[in-house]
Amino acid sequence: MCEEILPNLFRIKIPLPESPLKYLNSYVIRDARRNLIIDTGLNRKECLDAMLNGLKKLGVELARSDIFITHLHADHFGLVAKLASDSSDILFSRPEKELMESWEGFDSMVGYAGGNGFPKDQLKAALDRHPGNKYGTDWIPELKVLEDGDPIDVGDYHFTCVATPGHTMGHICLYEPTRKVLIAGDHILIDITPNIQCWSDTQNPLKHYLESLDKVYKLDIDLVLPGHRRLIEDHHARINELKEHHKKRLNEVLDILSSPGQHAFQIASQMTWDLVAKSWDHFPVAQKWFATGEAISHLRLLEEEGKVRRKTDGGLTRFSLSN
Ligand SMILES: [Zn+2]
Repeated sequence: MCEEILPNLFRIKIPLPESPLKYLNSYVIRDARRNLIIDTGLNRKECLDAMLNGLKKLGVELARSDIFITHLHADHFGLVAKLASDSSDILFSRPEKELMESWEGFDSMVGYAGGNGFPKDQLKAALDRHPGNKYGTDWIPELKVLEDGDPIDVGDYHFTCVATPGHTMGHICLYEPTRKVLIAGDHILIDITPNIQCWSDTQNPLKHYLESLDKVYKLDIDLVLPGHRRLIEDHHARINELKEHHKKRLNEVLDILSSPGQHAFQIASQMTWDLVAKSWDHFPVAQKWFATGEAISHLRLLEEEGKVRRKTDGGLTRFSLSN
């Protein structure tokens, strides 16, 4: 499915089978000289077919196209190697290029999750089902690095890169000030809240995410083109909702910690999630993984604010309220 949103700016919906996200929005800017494709889909046949069909309908040739990727998640990056031609520039952020090129598998995340109470027997199953493991790119093409504020010109569109760390540490949005359009990746979504996970004691992605929301709030925007679901017109209203959501979650974590000495997996099991399941035990294991990462991002922020403290004993980290 292919629709023109603005002159020569199209959306191709790339199906994401089995995912609650339903589809990825790939945006294509068509130009007589050079086209730009923004985000690609998973490295699987359903996505490739939808992309190639859409590009064919638009008369967009891969040999005359460059590709911009908002962030490293497989539903955005996965298909890039199948679409890149010899002449394509693949535009990407520096922190994520470095992360991908030094990636040594999930082992360190597994160790970290275990230390946060994620049951070891469920870990392997969680990772087998992780889309990054199943449908990630087979190889990484040469990536051209972008920094905050860099321009990208394509046809009549003159974008500026807006670094928006949070959902991932190198996430980039594209802002077009004349058209007042923001291509938002997974920084701002409607109906669903972008997942903010943390798998490290040194990072604080939720803090960065909230700062990135404030940064985008200040931009003059008429239309947000998100990575999934519907387009968003009132970015101020949506950003306020997202900030409110995290405020509630932070308070929920503090409430849960009125019983001291709990690990992140236990805390996640008591938090409120959108997913419809009878109980935490009925959650698909991949969702428990995301939920635990999300719980840790909230704990990290509370810890840096001095509201929560940790104690690690026998390899297991437990959290309590600071008093
Ligand atoms: Zn996504």
